[in-house]
Amino acid sequence: MSGRIPREFIDDLLVRVDIVDLIDSHVPLKKAGSSYVARCPFHSEKSPSFSVNRKKQFYHCFGCGAGGNAISFLMAFNHLDFVEAIEDLAGFVGIEVPREAVEYRQQKQDYSALYSILEQAAVFYVEQLRNNPEGVAAVEYLKRRGLSGDIAREFSLGYAPNEWDSLASRFEHKLLVDAGLLISKDDGGGYDRFRGRLMFPIRDKRKRIIGFGARVLDDSLPKYLNSPETSVFSKGRELYGLSELLEKDSKPKRILIVEGYMDVLALAQFGIFYSVAALGTATSKIHLDLLFRFTSEIIFCFDGDAAGKKAAWKAVQEAFPSLKDGRQVRIIFLPEGYDPDSLIREQGIAGFEEQIEGAEALSDYFFGYLSRDINLDTVEGQSALMSNARPYIEKIPAGFFREMMFGRLSGEGVGGALDISKKPAMLNESLIPRQMISKGKKSKASPVRIVVAHLLQSPQLIDVFEQRELDLSTMSFPGLDVLKDVLLAIEEIKPSSSAVLMEYFRGTANEKVVNTLINWDFFILSKGVEAEFLGAVDLMLLQAEESQLNELLTRERESGLDQEERKLLGKMLVKRI
Ligand SMILES: [Zn+2]
Repeated sequence: MSGRIPREFIDDLLVRVDIVDLIDSHVPLKKAGSSYVARCPFHSEKSPSFSVNRKKQFYHCFGCGAGGNAISFLMAFNHLDFVEAIEDLAGFVGIEVPREAVEYRQQKQDYSALYSILEQAAVFYVEQLRNNPEGVAAVEYLKRRGLSGDIAREFSLGYAPNEWDSLASRFEHKLLVDAGLLISKDDGGGYDRFRGRLMFPIRDKRKRIIGFGARVLDDSLPKYLNSPETSVFSKGRELYGLSELLEKDSKPKRILIVEGYMDVLALAQFGIFYSVAALGTATSKIHLDLLFRFTSEIIFCFDGDAAGKKAAWKAVQEAFPSLKDGRQVRIIFLPEGYDPDSLIREQGIAGFEEQIEGAEALSDYFFGYLSRDINLDTVEGQSALMSNARPYIEKIPAGFFREMMFGRLSGEGVGGALDISKKPAMLNESLIPRQMISKGKKSKASPVRIVVAHLLQSPQLIDVFEQRELDLSTMSFPGLDVLKDVLLAIEEIKPSSSAVLMEYFRGTANEKVVNTLINWDFFILSKGVEAEFLGAVDLMLLQAEESQLNELLTRERESGLDQEERKLLGKMLVKRI
């Protein structure tokens, strides 16, 4: 992803931008001591625990743990991907993003004409809904479905007149064709794709119109028609209603996936604004990863009929590879004969939300589905469940959730799997690894971690470190690998700030530990940071020696040492006397 943008440019960008100015332009900051604070934009809170540090060029929230550099902030705050964030940041600083591959920019410039024509078409359709006498039928239809003018405005609903050239007579044909609005004819002409239909503009997460859904007003077929795939519109990547949802709440607690446009509108009409719909395709992993950028919980909402059940199983299979720790998927089947629209009308928002609260955990649904035709009282049945479930669980990214699913499959004997699916709460408790319970605690401040944290926060300390002339290659202790990686990174990129160093570790195995340690606050005493650092280095070496000594002593007792090792042990023991 970042390969297109030269690394030096990114580092330079981070040097030019001041994160305090950047964040202040999104979230007003107040000065407090040496840093700047605000109420955290990433979780709701009454008193500010979000702090921005000018020296480190970082932000950190003591409440929810969010943190990072200027690029991370734009990614999180504006829900951008890496390249988008770089572009916005360059715009903020007022410089151009150089491209190693130029074609990417050219493509982008072409797109702006597409976005513009789509926007103009949407405006045209909205006007037709209001002013075209034909549009009355569309307004009537909306009223019949119980949708208010406010909802129609919020979702920019429109009407495409029942003519062959409403758009064709107004806009440039080539652009209309590229935007999927015009069907071209062999003679070089073309006609409007959407005619006599209620129009639903589809926006991307940056609020740009990228395509349309269209519904007939009578019983003719097809009932729904979507824009074809274009350079800016891909059904497998976009979701109806997401842009409108994010406008209301950029970090919704959960997102509901429903089947159609009208479901999204009906739910919004009743105050449930957190639903989205796939665009006439099944929900893909790409859809789920997109939604998980904004929320930690996704609830699938399916009809209770056979088609709904089939769709659910398909969706669950797509979901497995997206299920990193902290992400949750639940499933709800509506009572037969209902869709979200009819259900919320009958039961109101409270009744509907009650149904949502009762949604089944994905794990329960999964084991229930797989064991539905299996007799788990027999060994054959148990092993069938094992072999059916394993390939799916293997798709879950490494982490506690995956462990728990495997645990549930085999943990207490396979026979447990069925009982377990009836009593998820009990099982979950007994299978949560101990580490998870203590996960919320602050990371342990071992000497090596303190050394690494100092290096990350004040990279120039590497000179002091190198003066010690230590031979790290002969040492072995926990945390040494991270220390080596950080030293290498500092030597290689000579970072001008911690933010640059942090960028180097984005996407690497050490990203998490680096982000944690870079945020540690030290109370530096009068001796100064260099003395603190060297103190930590000494402590680290002492501990390393201690653990090596212990290791040698243990092995000496258990299996004996070779001559070399015995010499070393003797040396170490002498030194201690
Ligand atoms: Zn926070």
